[in-house]
Amino acid sequence: MSGTAATLLAPVVVLRTQAVGESDLIVWLLSPTVGRRDAAARAARSSRKRFGSGLLRPFVQLEVAIAPARKGGLPQLQGATLQRDLLGPAPTYAQLCVASYATELASLAAQPDHADAALFHWLCAALLASAVTPEALCRRLVIAVQAGFLQVTGLLPDLWRCARCGKPLDGMAHWPPDAMGLGCQTCAEGAREWLAASDIQALWIAGQACDAALLQGLTPTALSLISDRVQRLVGQAAHAPLRSALALRDLLRA
Ligand SMILES: [Zn+2]
Repeated sequence: MSGTAATLLAPVVVLRTQAVGESDLIVWLLSPTVGRRDAAARAARSSRKRFGSGLLRPFVQLEVAIAPARKGGLPQLQGATLQRDLLGPAPTYAQLCVASYATELASLAAQPDHADAALFHWLCAALLASAVTPEALCRRLVIAVQAGFLQVTGLLPDLWRCARCGKPLDGMAHWPPDAMGLGCQTCAEGAREWLAASDIQALWIAGQACDAALLQGLTPTALSLISDRVQRLVGQAAHAPLRSALALRDLLRA
């Protein structure tokens, strides 16, 4: 092992892996301090000695040793140690779907050499929440995960002020599907769908905490409306349909 020039990087979360050639893996890592870091793990699939049993897979937090790239190749992953298995050893299908979705969103937003601690911590929170959230709260968890993602990427509109007149939204608010923000009772007079201030507050804190239970007090109507709006915003951010969103959609429909 030529580990002389390797540096330790921790914590990192594995975003995805791609098999290359006979036995190598390319591993996409997310770090709070260096953003996305891709590395090649040579012989990762043939030798279990270097990377442990199944260590290089999504949903785990690792400490890794990385040696710099040579001649335009990828940096070389030289070793990895497990810090936390964020999703746990035996997730349900629903938990796996939500965790895959959060990881794909993080991959989309993460950039090489761009520190984004908020994105990293949101992903860890989303994976930990996926591991403990019961199936009955799965739909609310997805909303909380999406709201958190929109918060850390700065894509959630101002929930506290009317987008038209700038006054604080302290009572009911209207959230039109295609507008840049919410409207107050004066500016959105005549609108049919309204959210209570408590619904908006719940969305905000559920997103911050990645906690589906905080959305339990919402009426089915308010929940549907909020779900639709955050879904639209995430869709705009993603540009293309996410692979993991298809499984999630079927799951939520069932
Ligand atoms: Zn207004």
